[in-house]
Amino acid sequence: MKIFYTRADLSEYIIQQKTSGKLLGLVATMGALHEGHLSLIESARGQTDFVVCSIFVNPTQFNDTRDLEKYPRPIENDIKKLEASKCDALFLPEVSEMYDSNEKWHIDLDDLDKRLEGEIRPGHYQGVTQIVKKLFDTIKPDYAFFGQKDYQQFLVIYKMLKKLRSKVKLVMCPIVREKDGLAMSSRNIHLSADDRQKALALNQALNQAKADFPFKSVKQIEHDAIQFLNSSPGVQLDYFEICSGKTLKRAFSKNASSLIALVAAHVGNTRLIDNIILR
Ligand code: AMP
Repeated sequence: MKIFYTRADLSEYIIQQKTSGKLLGLVATMGALHEGHLSLIESARGQTDFVVCSIFVNPTQFNDTRDLEKYPRPIENDIKKLEASKCDALFLPEVSEMYDSNEKWHIDLDDLDKRLEGEIRPGHYQGVTQIVKKLFDTIKPDYAFFGQKDYQQFLVIYKMLKKLRSKVKLVMCPIVREKDGLAMSSRNIHLSADDRQKALALNQALNQAKADFPFKSVKQIEHDAIQFLNSSPGVQLDYFEICSGKTLKRAFSKNASSLIALVAAHVGNTRLIDNIILR
């Protein structure tokens, strides 16, 4: 696997690869790679000819500097995992390679960036779109693979691509879970053994919502899930909402063609998100 630290070197290499007509797949990550990330690499390998993974802990999407500082960065291990996954190239830039100081960015995302995660983490999705745009401009992928785990992020990036009339195709990959149902996340390493058990309540609430979906109203399902999570020890709920899978607007009935339940909560000092597609 080739490793690139600058946009210029990576671009030059990609131009050489592209002339041979290969389809290029991008998997953008912040590192601390786990099976969820590796499933994206595997999908990319299945659907494209050449896979670039980026590892960049993007400062502009963090609104809490402590969260940014404590973000895990086990880079040697990540490189081994990517090599074992037969990833073709890794892009590993420093912050100064991606940003000039005090750079400004804003894109109108039709308020998709203001709901749910966006409400709790103001500016988060502006930071996400800022870095993803730079990665797409540098790498020019044919396909980019993102996880359902960050469902709102997927919709936000999709919206950005539409607004920019971009030809990059997005592929959503399913959530990879631990055997007991906990959604894999780089942040899980911050969970104590006790908190790790308590965190299972999120997945349990989502599974219950899915099981109840044919029989109960949206309002009742939300109510039951919120009551369950509020009474789960160690869980501090940010939200549990059933939304349109297309707009993330709150669903008040089952009329929408696509419905999703999304949850976010603190367990100990760790903030976790998860979701399940209801229809
Ligand atoms: P991150 O490194 O957390 O920014 O995630 C990089 C990509 O991996 C994003 O597209 C995430 O949605 C995806 N991802 C993270 N966790 C999982 C998971 N458990 N299953 C599938 N994809 C995931």
